[in-house]
Amino acid sequence: MKALVYHGPGKKSWEEKPNPTLLQATDAIVRIYKTTICGTDLHILKGDVPEVTDGRILGHEGIGTIEEVGSAVTTFKKGDRVLISCISSCGKCDYCRKGMYSHCDQGGWILGHLIDGTQAEYVRIPFADTSLYPIPEQADDDAIVMLSDILPTGFECGVLNGQVKPGDTVVIVGAGPIGLAVLLTAQFYAPATIIMIDVDDNRLLAAKAFGATHTINSQEKDAVKEVFSLTENRGADVAVEAVGIPATFELCAAIIAPGGRIANVGVHGKSVELHLETLWSRNITITTRLVDTVTTPMLMKTILSHKLDGTKLITHHFALSDILKAYDTFEHAAREKALKVILTSK
Ligand SMILES: [Zn+2]
Ligand SMILES: [Zn+2]
Repeated sequence: MKALVYHGPGKKSWEEKPNPTLLQATDAIVRIYKTTICGTDLHILKGDVPEVTDGRILGHEGIGTIEEVGSAVTTFKKGDRVLISCISSCGKCDYCRKGMYSHCDQGGWILGHLIDGTQAEYVRIPFADTSLYPIPEQADDDAIVMLSDILPTGFECGVLNGQVKPGDTVVIVGAGPIGLAVLLTAQFYAPATIIMIDVDDNRLLAAKAFGATHTINSQEKDAVKEVFSLTENRGADVAVEAVGIPATFELCAAIIAPGGRIANVGVHGKSVELHLETLWSRNITITTRLVDTVTTPMLMKTILSHKLDGTKLITHHFALSDILKAYDTFEHAAREKALKVILTSK
């Protein structure tokens, strides 16, 4: 089969690899129909994720058809159409029993990380019964791909951890695909004001179209001043960090209102300064989380009932065999006006 293979920092190729085979009775082999590229894949290619070794097939999102199941798989059979979760869960360990699949003893985020991933014609999925989801007949396939990672990530790490409530002022720092996923799912709870902050005007335009009440280009304006002037000097009830650099986390801490919640979503590679000398008395909560994908079935229903439109996040389509072109587009997101790219296999 063909697959997108990582060969160390800056190096990847679309090359021939052996087809995956069942290793455990709980595995399934899935023939990939659609997949996508994540910001995390770009981090890996920069060398930021050293656990990913030379020869690894990348990708942790996608949908496909079951090709083969191990003898212990009871929920799925050959021919079933399935959504692949970015998080694999055994369903049995202490963390899984608590719904914290991201910290599963044998699973968590392993696809395209510690084991071969979904940017390929076939993929082996461990713990198939508890890591795959059936795709209903009437589903829009492109929208379903957004359920592998970004919609549950935005919703769980941003909206649920930020405890967004009706009437809240929500500030989302970072209008990339994840920040926009926070924006889309925050609206389930009817916040009064949603302010989106980014440095890319094109992404801010998308944010406006997706329901942001205000946008701020932090390269052109003082974002702290702007947020306070838009909120009668109160600040944000919820500040969501969706970038992963010190400046954006510190911005969240600077704009949080008393009693507010700072929900971190970004992947951080550097330490951040925490100004407890101003925050100690302000009754704030800071949360961190790796997506558990516990809300995937719920989000699936919101997509099927058209309460949530996942296709809004998709800007480009490519054939799976043109994945190198798709990477180029995704790597130059500002130039290409790219959010999520969809790769479809023939
Ligand atoms: Zn991802
Ligand atoms: Zn587990």
